[in-house]
Amino acid sequence: ARKSSDQSTSLFDDAEAQEIRRNIEIEVGIISGLKHNEFHLMYQPKICHQGKLAGVEALLRWDSASLGRVSPAEFIPVAEHSGLIHHISDFILDAVCAQIRLWLDTHGESPVVALNLSVIDLARTDLIELIEERCQHYRIETRYLELEITETGLIANEAISIQHLNALKKRGFSIAIDDFGTGYSSLSKLSHFPAHTVKIDRSFVAQIGYNAKSEMIIKAIISLAEILSCKTVAEGVENEDQESFLKQVGCDFFQGYYFYHPLNRRDMSDLLVSNLPL
Ligand code: C2E
Ligand code: CA
Ligand code: CA
Ligand code: CA
Repeated sequence: ARKSSDQSTSLFDDAEAQEIRRNIEIEVGIISGLKHNEFHLMYQPKICHQGKLAGVEALLRWDSASLGRVSPAEFIPVAEHSGLIHHISDFILDAVCAQIRLWLDTHGESPVVALNLSVIDLARTDLIELIEERCQHYRIETRYLELEITETGLIANEAISIQHLNALKKRGFSIAIDDFGTGYSSLSKLSHFPAHTVKIDRSFVAQIGYNAKSEMIIKAIISLAEILSCKTVAEGVENEDQESFLKQVGCDFFQGYYFYHPLNRRDMSDLLVSNLPL
């Protein structure tokens, strides 16, 4: 039953109307948020078998004045659909490069920082110049940057993805395929993506000890990565059982709450200092 006589809501059912309204609020909020500095990055460490810092992933946080804390899982898709993702990615790229420069100046060393690119970013014709330009601006070597792109994103835009990833690889950037295993890529397809790293999706890691199929998929991903000379990172590692299974099957690096939650700049700098020399 329709409670409202308002025409705009009578066109949709309540849930649908609510979602549309929420997305508009997010879209308007992003525009204002970019202007008013509401976005910042957190850094989640990746560690090696010995427990040492192997790199970090930059994760975006948004504390909106009008909406409160909004998860990137919610606002990134809205940004992608509205075309605002370019502005967000420009912000992330600049913030990451500035942070690397700061770590180099303060501690003489910086971890490799991975940033998440949207499939829409990957299609940008000026993507490569843009990333190179920021690196030059902050005088950082390309080897400090890793670009994470989801497997689903790569498949959605295969030809241009391969072309841009090859160009980025040639310039010294590292490439990671994110959320691996969720996109159902074929082996032959995968071998065309010039990746250095494959990130095993959290959904498989969460099933370790409970679901033999997920464990087999993890093993298969690791063998596949070996064939392609890729390193493997397991994401969402939350307990010791998962860690020991992953070590046993030869996963190279680990990321997750069991080791570190995403850290703010200050905590990340402290961790960096305690890990020097890298
Ligand atoms: P993702 O790239 O797969 O990032 C990993 C997500 O898992 C992060 O959520 C992280 O906080 C969370 N996480 C890490 N360890 C654990 C764990 O042990 N257990 C559990 N349950 N979760 C864990 P977050 O930061 O909310 O990001 C969600 C997604 O939003 C990301 O998934 C990524 O796809 C997207 N995203 C985040 N930051 C950016 C960004 O700067 N740019 C773009 N394009 N997308 C971003
Ligand atoms: Ca990621
Ligand atoms: Ca991921
Ligand atoms: Ca994931």
